[in-house]
This record gives sequence, C-alpha cells and structure tokens, in this order.
Amino acid sequence: MAERTNIHWCDSSVNPVMGCDGCELANPSSPDAATCYAKVLHDFRGSHKGFASDFFRPELFAGRMAKAAAWPDLTGQPRTDKPWLDGQPRLIFISDMGDALSNGVPFDFLREEIIENVESDQGRRHFWLWLTKRPQRMRAFARHLGRPLPDNLMAMTSVTSARTAWRADMLSRVDARWTGLSCEPILGPIPDRVVRGRDWVIAGFLSGAAAETGLHTACYLRRAAERERVPFFMKQLGHRPEFRDPKGADLSEGPAELAIRRTPDFGQATQQRHAES
Ligand code: SF4
Repeated sequence: MAERTNIHWCDSSVNPVMGCDGCELANPSSPDAATCYAKVLHDFRGSHKGFASDFFRPELFAGRMAKAAAWPDLTGQPRTDKPWLDGQPRLIFISDMGDALSNGVPFDFLREEIIENVESDQGRRHFWLWLTKRPQRMRAFARHLGRPLPDNLMAMTSVTSARTAWRADMLSRVDARWTGLSCEPILGPIPDRVVRGRDWVIAGFLSGAAAETGLHTACYLRRAAERERVPFFMKQLGHRPEFRDPKGADLSEGPAELAIRRTPDFGQATQQRHAES
C-alpha cells in the first residue's frame, strides 16, 4: 500500500489482495506477458513480507483497507505534483498489485475488508477506485452484497483491445453508482461503445510496436468520450526518443488532442456523505 503513489490518476493505492489469476498482460502464453508491472514486481520481491510468494496464488492481507481509510482527508488540499486532482477527495486505487476479484477470494472477505472500510466513517472521507479485469465476478459480488456498491466507490475495469471490450459490457451490468474504464496499456484498436455510460475513461499506451496503434486509439477514444460527455484522462504517451520524459507522462510533448487530464467531480459523493452523517 502507498499513501502517496506515482500513479497519475490517484493519490494513493491499497492492496487487500496481492497477486491474481492472470490476464492478457501476464499469462505466460500471451505475447503481452511482460507488461504486468505487478507481476514483474512480485517476481522481483519474491518472498518479501507483504507480497504473495507466488503471484498466481493470490494472498489476502486483512487490515490494509482500514489503514488506508485512516489516511488524512485531502479534500481541498492542493496537489503540487498532480494539480489535476485539486479539489478532489483523496482518490485511493484498490488493487494495483493484483486483482481482488480473483477466483479464490471469498466474497465475505471482500465485504468485510473492502466494503465495510469504504463505508466506515473514515472511509467516507475518501473516494475509492476499484479496478478489476473480472467485472463478471464484481457483478456477482454486488449481487451477493444484495445492494449497490457504495456511492463513494467507482467500479472499474480494463480494456486493452477489441478482444477485451466485453469487460466494459459486463461492467455496465454491475450494480454501481459509478463506473470507469482504464484503457491502459492500449494494445490494439478499441471500439467506441466501451465509453458509453461511463463516468471516467483513462487511457495510456506503451512505447515500441504498439505506440502507433496506441496513439490512434487514444485519439479515437478521446473523441468518443467528448461525444458522450465522459471525462477523459490521458495517463501517458509511451516513450519516444524525442521525449524528455522517459515515460511519456509530460503530455505537452505529444499531440495537443491528447494533452488532457479531466476527472469527474468525486467530491459530490463524499460531501453528500458528510452532509448525511
Ligand atoms: S489482472 Fe492486473 S495484476 Fe493481474 S495479471 Fe493482469 S494486469 Fe497483472
């Protein structure tokens, strides 16, 4: 967990589950296998405390969400390094080092660890971004819960190409007030229907062979988001020799069309909660 993360679209991250069942970015047979940062880090850290000893055997870490909920409120605090987040409550990304909705993770654990802490008095001061590549299991979990996911939480999934666009369709069936999409890294063309009905779309791509496709697809998604009035957030442009920023995160170095980092007004969810309590 990190109270302060380098990830551009949030302030903090927390991982109640480390490791996951894999996806197109980490399955050994996939041509994109090298791009899962979580797996690379797990392989590097191996048996270190706080990591799953085998990335593909997710491990549960109860108590991390409560610690994250206790982090100070950031509402109204300027972010010197991420000015696009000014005015927001603390944005906490759940699951950047695995997938909490991996098959073996019990729903009771998710309810007690994630939902109860998001809805706690301290958790309500923040806004939570729960990302999964298993929206079908998130949908089943919300059904198990018997009510919508909390309204200070965004249900999110990843679409990396047309092959995984089904995840956005499935996300639409999750009982949640907020839904968001991460198209990162873009590996191939993505149909514009994935944007429809979303509250937020994040995009980013890598350097190398996928960069041209990434660039075209990001522009295409940005236009789709504009039509649908969905806030669009460009995370990174991939590395290019002519860029000063090695990760392509300085958007002023890329096309003007992609120099955009918009966010929804997450404060409405937390302020409403404050008013109710
Ligand atoms: S679901 Fe996420 S953590 Fe798991 S392998 Fe894929 S990219 Fe890595």
